[in-house]
This record gives sequence, C-alpha cells and structure tokens, in this order.
Amino acid sequence: MIALKRFGQNFLIDKNILAEIVSRSDAGEDDCVLEVGPGHGVLTRALLARGVGHLHAIELDERLRPELEELARGEENFSLHWGDAVKFDYSSLKPFPNKIIANIPYNITTPLIWELLRYAGLGLTYHLYMLQMEAAVRLTAPPDSKARYPLGVTIEAMGHASIVRSVGRKCFRPVPNVDSAIVEIVIEKNFALMENSSWSELLHRGFAHRRKTLINNLKGFMNISRETFEALGLDANIRAEDLTCEQWLRLFGLGVRSEGLGVRV
Ligand code: SAM
Repeated sequence: MIALKRFGQNFLIDKNILAEIVSRSDAGEDDCVLEVGPGHGVLTRALLARGVGHLHAIELDERLRPELEELARGEENFSLHWGDAVKFDYSSLKPFPNKIIANIPYNITTPLIWELLRYAGLGLTYHLYMLQMEAAVRLTAPPDSKARYPLGVTIEAMGHASIVRSVGRKCFRPVPNVDSAIVEIVIEKNFALMENSSWSELLHRGFAHRRKTLINNLKGFMNISRETFEALGLDANIRAEDLTCEQWLRLFGLGVRSEGLGVRV
C-alpha cells in the first residue's frame, strides 16, 4: 500500500516508542479508549494486548479496511468506525471513551483536538498524542510566547498539556520531513467551556492580527473601553499572546455578563 501524504500516513515503526506511549497512557480494563487513524494497527494491537476495557478506532482510508477488519475479527472489545475523525459524532460511541491515544495525521491536528475538547463534559478527559514537534510546542506555549495560539490557551483553561518526549523522524515509515513529540493533555476543570462557541470565537478574534492590540482585534465582537480593560488588570496595549489563561477567562466572563456571549463558565 502506498502511504498517502494527504492522509498524514507516517507509520510508527519504533517498538520502544510504541511501548512508551502505551505505558504512559496507563490504559487498562477500566478504560474505554479512542484511537484516531489506526493505520496498519500497531498501536491498536498494543492497546488490545494491554487489555483495555474497550477500544474504538476510526480510520478514513478505506484501503485499510481488509486488514483492520481482520484485526477486529473475534475482538469483542474492539469497535471499528470509518470516516473523517474531524467530523465524526463521538456522542454516538458506546461505551463512551475516557481516553484518546493516537498517532494523529499532522494535517488534522488542530481541528481534531478542538473537536475532541467538546467531549470533556461527557468524560473524554485524557489525551495522549504523537504530534509534529511544531504543533507540540504551540500546544504547550506559555504566555508571552510567539508560539501561543487559541487551542493552547483553551487547553490551559481546561487543564494542562505537556511534552512527554521528542521522537525522531526515523521512528516512522515513510520518514517525515520533521521530528515529532508525544504530548499529554489532561482535562481537569471548565469541562463545559467548549460548549459555548463564543469562547473559541473570542480567542480567534483576539489572535486574528498578531500585530494589533487585543482591544483593536476585539472591536465589533466585544466592545470594551480602555478603562474596563484596565480594571480587569489588563494593559490597554496588551496583545493576545501576552494574556495568561486566567486573564482570558476573566475577559470571557466579562463578555458573558455584559455582552451576552452565551453561558457563564
Ligand atoms: N496509528 C498508525 C501508526 O501509529 O502507525 C497510523 C498513524 S498515521 C500518522 C495517521 C493515520 O490516520 C493513517 O492511518 C491515516 O489514514 C489516518 N487518517 C488520516 N486522516 C484521517 C481522518 N481525517 N480521520 C481518520 N483517520 C485519518
């Protein structure tokens, strides 16, 4: 089978890295795990061998159907799903997963994580990903960092993300042009944050033009005076990347109260 770039098909071949992912996840019989993009099933087999309570895997590339269906045969605790993981209705999964463990295709990293965060309230609170190093750096970027972006702020508002380790490009076939990293995300608060679309809109508008101040970026969406802004402890000339996650939450709370931006968090 020819690996397709558009599906981000760089298959993991390093057994030590595979073992590290599975052991880090601590997945066991009490867990229902979701895997996105099982590919040829290396991670899938390792998770099944660990005796996870249930495993759901969702794959887009139909060419993998024969080998994945073969893998699923006789595995009562394994459900195979077909389609685009970014558009999938996860609420239909039974049992519902509490962990996602996946070597995800690079081109869907950001939209997929945004989507999966929406299910935190249903119990999907642990994420372990193999990602492109650049994405890992952005997801974990602290305030004042040029790499900071809306998804990283959201994860910080809901819990925390950390880089577990870097992974060299030679651990994959075909060899990608970039290095990777294993990133762990644990959701532990504000579980319903993503249920209000105004939160991500606030962040996306705030970060839209990086050279503009936050107040200017938010004009038309959330009109705040310099005085109100300063009363929140924010410098009127501050830029989106400089805000701490607490400051974003305070700003959102203000928007909810004074501008009707949906539910309170
Ligand atoms: N898990 C395997 C491994 O570790 O070797 C494969 C990982 S490979 C980086 C990414 C996998 O995701 C491929 O099998 C690819 O076909 C699949 N994929 C790509 N886009 C997808 C999407 N939108 N939804 C579901 N699966 C997708």
